[in-house]
Amino acid sequence: MKIAQGTTLITNGQLIDGTGKAPTPDASLVIRDGRIVYAGPAAGAPALPPDTERIDARGGTILPGLVEAHFHATYFNIAALEDLDIKYPVEYVSLLSSVNTRLALECGYTAARSGGCLFNVDVWLRKAIEEDLIAGPRLATSGREICSAGGLMDWNPEFRKIGMEGLVFIINGVEDARKAVRALVKDGIEWVKTYPTGDAASPDLNDHHTLCMTFEEMNAVVATAHNHKLKVTGHCRATQGIKNALRAGYDTIEHGTFMDDEALDLLLERDVPCIPALYFEKASIERGPEFGLPQQVINGHQETLDGGAESARRILRAGGRLGMGGDYGFGWNPHGDYAKELTFFVKHVGLTPLEVITCATKTGAEIMGRGHEFGTLEPGKLADVLVVDGDVMADIALLEDRKKFIAVMQGGVIKAGQLAKPFPTVVKREK
Ligand SMILES: [Zn+2]
Repeated sequence: MKIAQGTTLITNGQLIDGTGKAPTPDASLVIRDGRIVYAGPAAGAPALPPDTERIDARGGTILPGLVEAHFHATYFNIAALEDLDIKYPVEYVSLLSSVNTRLALECGYTAARSGGCLFNVDVWLRKAIEEDLIAGPRLATSGREICSAGGLMDWNPEFRKIGMEGLVFIINGVEDARKAVRALVKDGIEWVKTYPTGDAASPDLNDHHTLCMTFEEMNAVVATAHNHKLKVTGHCRATQGIKNALRAGYDTIEHGTFMDDEALDLLLERDVPCIPALYFEKASIERGPEFGLPQQVINGHQETLDGGAESARRILRAGGRLGMGGDYGFGWNPHGDYAKELTFFVKHVGLTPLEVITCATKTGAEIMGRGHEFGTLEPGKLADVLVVDGDVMADIALLEDRKKFIAVMQGGVIKAGQLAKPFPTVVKREK
């Protein structure tokens, strides 16, 4: 991804640097050749060359670009679990995904960690984004997911003879687990996504208290993945599933819904980040009826929401790390609504706006393994910046409204927001 040349100065706003430090009023952010050289009070800013480009934050907020920590680029208007695998062919999924990545960037998300994708779309999306062919967040890729036979993702009855190869590896035992990870190694992905537990979406056979993989299978996934320097995460709701994942050496925990004291201790012991993805549950409860979700499923989402909110609070209060993101791409929780997660955590979980922003920036970058490159506004970091017309500390919901964005920058280049120029026409061609 190209970075900006020259010097840019952003002034006339409060600065939230993403480290968790209180905002700096009347701040300046100086960017040189795509990287931050100064972030602090305007009075202390260095002298600047005459051709410096200036951005007026209009008394608003300057903060790091947001990081979506559980992004599904390939999901699009999912209305039922079955929509995940047989709705569209890979060609159309690829096109839809590029629309989703552009939307995510326009929504202020300059980076994203995938929570699983159809086919091997993520890897090629990342390449197109990195080569500036399409707009999108800096992407940490995932691929086809892994679930044991009969588990949450194995819903097609045998008589239909419908394969799941674009969506998930259905495994039986450790040999299958290793084989699936080896295929993902060859695909070139970074994150292996697994299904240690079920979900409220499947109340009969694989609800949120059901295990969908054995500990031995999970161990085999981690050993094989780590050997090839891939990371592992998993859909973990049931208490025992969370503990199995932490004991097997998972690198992050998705959801972490029903944590008891022992699970929390295991999480904190290795400082494993958790991505609760709770707004999805709220949207499922509120909008489920209009999409025909059965009451039993909605009740399960309510239990998940209550348990997940309590666990998230406990994790953060105990000094653990939370990433913000989650499962956008369903009909009732569409792409573009990403920042509703942040508002939800302030209004319903009880985090402060500053805590939520730290989770959505610094921790997100750390989850991606790129905390040294972006996620905070500090000298030396890439200038992935969001400039908002308004006081985000007073009203976190401003981040839901992309019309309020003055600039969304990656490496100092304004890619979206009011000051953005149209996305440049592609001139580079591969021979
Ligand atoms: Zn997900």
